[in-house]
Amino acid sequence: MARYTGSVCRLCRREGLKLFLKGDRCYTDKCAFSRRGYAPGQHGQGRKKVSNYGLQLREKQKAKRIYGILEGQFRKYYEKADRKKGITGENLLVLLETRLDNIVYKLGYGQSRAEARQLVTHGHFLVNGKKVDIPSFKVSVNDTVTVCDRSKASEKFKTFAENPKTLPVWLEGDIENFQGKVVREPSRDEIDVPVNETLIVELYSR
Ligand code: SF4
Repeated sequence: MARYTGSVCRLCRREGLKLFLKGDRCYTDKCAFSRRGYAPGQHGQGRKKVSNYGLQLREKQKAKRIYGILEGQFRKYYEKADRKKGITGENLLVLLETRLDNIVYKLGYGQSRAEARQLVTHGHFLVNGKKVDIPSFKVSVNDTVTVCDRSKASEKFKTFAENPKTLPVWLEGDIENFQGKVVREPSRDEIDVPVNETLIVELYSR
């Protein structure tokens, strides 16, 4: 399972906005983007005229980086979204949003999607009572996600339970009892990622 292993702060600087890839650190003055809010590299501070293609490319890269996905898998998501009924761009975001690692993150386990992904790969979660350690696993409507018994007693999970997050309306959760459920698919306005999905569709339809 390939993943990006370089500096994630560099990705925020490249995209020109905070992508909140590091959890708590992103809210402190240690944030690299707050200190150097320009693109990395020798020409990062130069003036740039961005073409249409450039704009489309940046939106795609931003979405990939927010969800921690590499190109091949992202393209497969696009192809799947294109085959589904409805608006391709919105289908794409719903597919990304209902990945198991994202659901786990939204339920309050992990400061970032990267941490949630690691928790999944380490086998801490059950979907409908069965262990699933695949971050890209598609969680469907009415599926329940629970923390496995062994992990509930760990300090890490106790800390998550003591600091619950506000859940999106399409998720039901009870972090104190270590469980959550997808009640319906999110609509576009309930997906809080700063991405213009139309530009991504335009890029792949070229
Ligand atoms: Fe991005 Fe967070 Fe790094 Fe700031 S600290 S540059 S928001 S990953």
